[in-house]
Amino acid sequence: MSSFSKTAEADVLSDVEDILSGDRRALAKAITLIESERNDHKKLAQQLLNQLLPHSGNALRIGISGSPGVGKSTLIEVFGLYLIKLKKRLAVLTIDPSSLISGGSILGDKTRMELLSREPSVYIRSSPSSGVIGGLARRTRETMLICEAAGYDLILIETVGVGQSEAAVAELADLFVLLVQPGGGDDLQGIKRGVMELADLVVVTKADGELTELAAKTQSDYRAALSLIQKRDSRIQQQVLSCSAHERKGMEDIWATITQYSQMSLKDGEFEEKRNRQKVAWMWQEIQEQLISELKNNEDIQQYAIKLESEVVMGSKTSSEAAAQILSKFQKLSDS
Ligand code: GDP
Repeated sequence: MSSFSKTAEADVLSDVEDILSGDRRALAKAITLIESERNDHKKLAQQLLNQLLPHSGNALRIGISGSPGVGKSTLIEVFGLYLIKLKKRLAVLTIDPSSLISGGSILGDKTRMELLSREPSVYIRSSPSSGVIGGLARRTRETMLICEAAGYDLILIETVGVGQSEAAVAELADLFVLLVQPGGGDDLQGIKRGVMELADLVVVTKADGELTELAAKTQSDYRAALSLIQKRDSRIQQQVLSCSAHERKGMEDIWATITQYSQMSLKDGEFEEKRNRQKVAWMWQEIQEQLISELKNNEDIQQYAIKLESEVVMGSKTSSEAAAQILSKFQKLSDS
């Protein structure tokens, strides 16, 4: 972070040109700036984003999720190598909620996607292992916009499925791909209905060797289950495919389905509707985050909150009453 200590506005603006011309070092530096928690960095990051925003928005954004071990990194590596043969420029961004839960990182492993990370037309970036899921999603969103300005035309946003994180990724992406393993059971591996409703495409992984038959069965189970589910924000029928990253099978199908989906949603206006909805949702998320951080950084409010917290604990005040009083004090402070 210290490399930014003397960064002046002029530097940031000259970085804009470098990022637009596809300079990876400038891109990495910009993302580090975005991830910084320092207030002066936040201001610079905002200036940088304002400059880059008009150049973003041209990529297809694909969210990918699934439980640990489902085969995400193996598939992204093989699928990514397939995509770069099609002359795609690919950015892989990860939201890693595991660090919030366990203190460690499941996705942060450096050996993941080793072949893909050596490709010059691929950029891989993991989110830092701190913060809340909303914060991680915001940084990933801004990173995504910068990668688009840098000319990446496909953005894969990966996350470990833990409930909240799928929704965060689905909110960032144009299309959400849920990976599932071959497996029996009527409960469809305990995947929550809410998560299934988010999926535009379900892909059964590991359809090879001994698992081939089970994968086909799982695929038809999901088809049956999805036919009963009303997709939350799309009129396009959800698809279920299978693949084997080990045997490099199914990549063409996945890509063809994704392309077909995006063409259909572009044609009937759904693509734009979804992006517009997302922009408005991001605005409100931003308001929420900024308000909370202003509240928490205000010393008067902090002291007042300590007093009210103890009254809430003692039972002499309800939580909602205390919240209303804090907000009203904040409003008075803002007005004065
Ligand atoms: P992630 O945690 O979701 O990123 O999963 P990984 O990609 O690390 O894969 C988890 C395990 O599944 C590893 O042992 C992989 O070798 C195995 N695996 C991944 N893809 C395939 C596949 O296509 N076929 C088979 N049989 N195993 C796979």
